Amino acid sequence: MPERKQFRAIKGTRDILPPDSALWNWFEQTARDVFESYNFGEVRLPMFEETELFARSIGVETDVVSKEMYTFEDRGNIHVGFPETIEEVLVSNEAVQAAWQAGRIPHTMDNELRVNLIGHACGSISEEGAPALLRFISALHALDLGDSLTLRPEATASVCRAYIEHNLQALPGNAKLYYIGPMFRRERPQKGRYRQFYQIGAEVLGASDAPAIDAELLEMLLVFFHRVGLRRTTLYINSIGDKNCRPAYVELLRAELQKVKDRLGPDSQRRIETNPLRVLDSKIPEEQPIIEKLPRISGHLCDDCRAHFSKLKDELNLRGIEYVENWRLVRGLDYYTRTTFEVTAAGLGSQNAVCGGGRYDGLVELLGGPPTKGIGFAIGTDRSILSIEEGGNAPKLAGLAVYVAWMGPAAYPAAVRITRKLREAGLTVELPPEEMKFKKSLGLADKLGARYALIIGEDEVASASYTLKNLADAEQRKLSENDLLEYLESERRGSRA
Ligand code: ATP
Ligand code: MG
Repeated sequence: MPERKQFRAIKGTRDILPPDSALWNWFEQTARDVFESYNFGEVRLPMFEETELFARSIGVETDVVSKEMYTFEDRGNIHVGFPETIEEVLVSNEAVQAAWQAGRIPHTMDNELRVNLIGHACGSISEEGAPALLRFISALHALDLGDSLTLRPEATASVCRAYIEHNLQALPGNAKLYYIGPMFRRERPQKGRYRQFYQIGAEVLGASDAPAIDAELLEMLLVFFHRVGLRRTTLYINSIGDKNCRPAYVELLRAELQKVKDRLGPDSQRRIETNPLRVLDSKIPEEQPIIEKLPRISGHLCDDCRAHFSKLKDELNLRGIEYVENWRLVRGLDYYTRTTFEVTAAGLGSQNAVCGGGRYDGLVELLGGPPTKGIGFAIGTDRSILSIEEGGNAPKLAGLAVYVAWMGPAAYPAAVRITRKLREAGLTVELPPEEMKFKKSLGLADKLGARYALIIGEDEVASASYTLKNLADAEQRKLSENDLLEYLESERRGSRA
């Protein structure tokens, strides 16, 4: 007998079960509806990428990359049995090595293909070559050529990678993309903080960095939050400059931080060297009065950045969007430029950020693509839903409409037929798979939260007239099959309206 073991979801991950999952689907569907009304299209991205993609874009010094990534070595794709399948391809060890060294075996391709290519690349065939090839393959094994992969901690890097890979800059207009899905970060699990959590994000990539792009993106975000009942939110905005003005500010900040170094904690002390901006992000109470006295970036923006930020605020005012300027909003990822923003919501304690985002004008280029402007946000679904629920704003979703209480073998075929018709009409219907006494059946209908019980007994079948019981007020009516369908369909439209 194998040991009895209770399997549990890994710490920081969880199952989202019905009826909660219906709320999640509704939340995500609302995002689709709103985003598509702004002409965004969905991009479905892989859940893992080359580690270097994240390291390069998010920044090696960030918490996400330095501590939180789920990184693993992929297995090489060389199969032990492989040489047998190409035993006619006899190549000399030298030729293979030469091809390898000449870079004729591309690095980006998987190992199986690489070995295949070796066969083609090396023309010289000899009997002694076969063992050499075998030796070479086992040497490849020993090299452990599996790539370093990482479960995505966020998706902006992937969107940029896809933008470059599919040459999306060649399309007319800006690329306006949204994504929905899980992200993975090895953080300390707590309320509103998980190791597998869910984001909904949107990105605009293209040639323009017009402030109206930033403003419209924020409008879309807030329209979405309003539509899902996330009402007590605050939008914080900031500009963190660009490559022309930020370096000088960062140096100034570093110099000022050096003067107060002794009064800062170890994390902030380290960041004076690695990334002084991140000190502004500190939540440590003792550091707050010190940080408040530091020079603010708003006084050090170059003319272009200042004009961009000021135009953004005009654009937000034009749209009636309320915001709070927060000079300390630098965001945790390295790639941001100019506009940064965050939205907080009520009912979440200290994990109260439900959305973060900003501009990342140099990122596509940093990843090897063409010069491209970009801006985006990521909404934390887990926290947003928590906040909606705590605010009592979760919608009452339709749920089970009809429970078919049938009894007697003669009633069963009618029950099956009518159930299918009701389902085709878009109603959620439960048909018990086994016969039950009416009393028990109606009790179950109640427990399942059905709005109606449809009673089908042998008498009903004989008279072709069925009893529909409203379980909320116990009101009953007798209806023919057609009238029943009509009645329930209009009820469905009413309950959705
Ligand atoms: P925080 O400061 O709360 O750690 P962050 O700056 O790391 O957030 P982003 O990378 O900007 O977060 O991600 C955007 C949103 O994703 C956050 O505002 C939050 O709602 C959500 N989020 C981030 N990390 C987690 C997590 N571990 N669990 C649940 N939601 C998360
Ligand atoms: Mg974080």
